[in-house]
Amino acid sequence: MNTIHVGILSTGTEILQGLYADTNAQWLSARLSAMGLHVVRHVAAPDRARDVADAIAYLGRTCQLVVMTGGLGPTEDDLTRQAVCEAFGTRLREDAKAWRMIVERFRHRGVAPPASNRVQCLIPEGARTLYNLWGTAPGFAIDRPPKGLPWFAALPGPPRENRPMFEKYLEREIARRFARGRIARIRTLHTVGISESALNDRLRALFEEIGDDPDRGIAFLSGDARVDIRLVARGADPAQVRASMNALSARVRRRVPPDCIYGSDRETLEAVVLRLMRKRGRRLAVAESCTGGQVASRLTDIAGSSDVFLAGWVAYSNEAKCSELGVRRSTLERHGAVSAETAAEMARGALDRSGADVAVSVTGIAGPGGGTKEKPVGLVWYGLAWREERKKGASGTVRCETFQTCFRSGREMVRRYASHRALDLVRRLAIGLPLELPKS
Ligand code: ATP
Repeated sequence: MNTIHVGILSTGTEILQGLYADTNAQWLSARLSAMGLHVVRHVAAPDRARDVADAIAYLGRTCQLVVMTGGLGPTEDDLTRQAVCEAFGTRLREDAKAWRMIVERFRHRGVAPPASNRVQCLIPEGARTLYNLWGTAPGFAIDRPPKGLPWFAALPGPPRENRPMFEKYLEREIARRFARGRIARIRTLHTVGISESALNDRLRALFEEIGDDPDRGIAFLSGDARVDIRLVARGADPAQVRASMNALSARVRRRVPPDCIYGSDRETLEAVVLRLMRKRGRRLAVAESCTGGQVASRLTDIAGSSDVFLAGWVAYSNEAKCSELGVRRSTLERHGAVSAETAAEMARGALDRSGADVAVSVTGIAGPGGGTKEKPVGLVWYGLAWREERKKGASGTVRCETFQTCFRSGREMVRRYASHRALDLVRRLAIGLPLELPKS
């Protein structure tokens, strides 16, 4: 098979002004690369017809396939359709079904569509309309481009619209035309508490076995205080690809300590914590110092968390640790704010004052200043206090344990890592895993 070169074109002046990151190019590249295609260009163009047409011409010189996102909305600056017509030497036609769908969408909200929405059902002549079931702007695909021009697809800008549209209308078609009918599935396993090199050691034999097998792949992605294992399975038959992915994922899971994989794909650690606690009817409180509310913020990012998450304290000063959480002044004087003793009293205080079943505390030195030889920057203490689950009427006794990590990095990463570890402690407690991290 000849190598297929792919270009991704993102339109939007805001991208070039740095107002949001081009995650469409990232997501599409991952999906297309996983199919075995070579993404060779990412181009971003401002919302100007001339620039968009130039970008298409530029990409057309090196790419057989171009996927564009954005610029299909009803606003004045959405001139993408005209630019595409210019590049492909065609004109716009109205797609009656696309207009009916827009009218229907607005009717659902009890209003008529504004006149400006009418431009959204204009599609280049000869293009296939990609009807949008997730928003208003339809996309389109130019399946039979004039000689010398790339196969071309345009999708709306919002990820929640273009991702399902890519899967529904484009993925199989691109696979059929450019990837010998081979589709790819990607699964990302999220790990916590194990380093990339330790994972590499554990998966070495599997890496060697896979070698350059075109149907399977494993890679590590690290960042955001965790390491992800990205699995790819490819093939022509969707059922077979699914089975191959499940087999690969099971083999990886057998080699990695089970408590180190907390979830997959879009699952976040906070969502997993809430799900596990909810299942057990347990409620959570947090007491934070160096993370400044990050743990509480992550938990409340998840809609509907109030049945599990009761309360959080940001007790940054020593005074607040005493007045808000009942930490004893003598504890602070004798052991300092960053100590096992203070972490324990913070967790117990949060447990008592909220009435929760589990409370986790975090107190550390995020830096850049404030470190000493005994307590360096990056040192964090955690307290975990919980009421033992009541069995047969016995009252739950309160238990408390403390843990320490020392993560040498910048302030932001220390805080992020600490919020991750605090949430992971709750996860471990909820499923009865050892609370200490495995030695990796
Ligand atoms: P709409 O009908 O919503 O206006 P559109 O196709 O015109 O759709 P844009 O106006 O270009 O899309 O972008 C709409 C929103 O989609 C942006 O405000 C941004 O939040 C998101 N978006 C657009 N392009 C990208 C991109 N490349 N990466 C991530 N998000 C994007």
